[in-house]
Amino acid sequence: SRQGGDEFTIYLPTIKGHTDILKVINCIDESFSHPFQILEHEMNVKTSIGISLFPDNGDTAELLIKNADTAMYKSKERPGTSFHFFSEELDMRSFEPIKLENDLYKAIEKNEMFILYQPQINYKTHQIVGVEALLRWNHQERGIITPDHFISLAEETGLIVPLGEWVLKHACQQLKEWHDAGFVLPSLSVNLSVHQFEQRDLFERIKTILEETNLSPEFLELELTENVIVKNTELTLTTMKQLKSLGIKIAIDDFGTGYSSLGYLKNLPISKLKIDKSFVDQMVYDDAAITNTIITLGQNLNLEVIAEGVETKEQADYLLQQNCQLMQGYYFSKPVEAQEIFSRYKEGR
Ligand code: C2E
Ligand code: CA
Ligand code: CA
Repeated sequence: SRQGGDEFTIYLPTIKGHTDILKVINCIDESFSHPFQILEHEMNVKTSIGISLFPDNGDTAELLIKNADTAMYKSKERPGTSFHFFSEELDMRSFEPIKLENDLYKAIEKNEMFILYQPQINYKTHQIVGVEALLRWNHQERGIITPDHFISLAEETGLIVPLGEWVLKHACQQLKEWHDAGFVLPSLSVNLSVHQFEQRDLFERIKTILEETNLSPEFLELELTENVIVKNTELTLTTMKQLKSLGIKIAIDDFGTGYSSLGYLKNLPISKLKIDKSFVDQMVYDDAAITNTIITLGQNLNLEVIAEGVETKEQADYLLQQNCQLMQGYYFSKPVEAQEIFSRYKEGR
């Protein structure tokens, strides 16, 4: 049976010992030893086989499949060996990244992903001007995992694309819900990865999500890092222009930490700079030169500027004094559940 993706299960109910298994493996190897002809293409398919035995490696179908899966990943790890028997001694720790990858594939389906929202404040008017959607993973064994531990894995595996789309959709739905309940929050920021920007149909996908959730595009802001811009392809430019023409805003996240030249700020449809936390940290006690420069740069180019990672009143006061009113950080609020945002709104906090 097909287990999912490129994984298949073979159940052998009548074997008497290892030699019977090896015979079957030989058959499989034989079938895949020649290339497959598909139209004009010759395709070579490699197999990696993991084996678990009843009752030694498990007494339920579920456990047997799980252990066969673990063994299969072991044989994937070692090119050249096509099969691997499960054994209790398989070092589970060395499997962690692989296991996490496997779990990540199933995380959306299993409803383990959720979103927290961090308020963005206008410190001058003391109003909440928006929220940033931040992804969390409630892993069944490890508890809550922050994106630092799985975003790069998601990017390597390409899973960031469905994952990012999931975030976008659910965050838009959430904002729409608040709006319908009378809480008209003006802005929702969602992080987009470089990989998402490499999709030809990114614009169409975002447009569809907005249509499905019935949210007006001007409420949506996308946060990109400079590495999207460093790549600066024709595709990036086209997509950004399309997004802008729809009314979607684009912010540059972690501004100042990348390696891009500043020229793009004039050529690309960007509306906001986010001062990276590292500069905000240095600001009060060490050196405010970079923060001040970014604020001035934003003013001169007619871009909004928001400081992130604001943790103290001193930092907030200093930023305001420098004419940076928009802020986000633990001083105001940690990222919290949607419900919490709404209760604060209702209580007028
Ligand atoms: P980021 O976009 O720079 O998000 C800000 C991070 O700083 C968040 O971490 C937030 O919780 C944390 N933070 C906010 N205020 C403070 C503060 O005052 N002090 C300190 N120490 N930290 C603060 P988080 O939620 O762990 O996210 C980490 C990174 O993961 C994000 O950095 C973003 O790059 C990425 N990420 C999160 N959600 C998504 C997503 O849906 N898609 C993509 N592609 N990336 C995401
Ligand atoms: Ca961000
Ligand atoms: Ca950031």
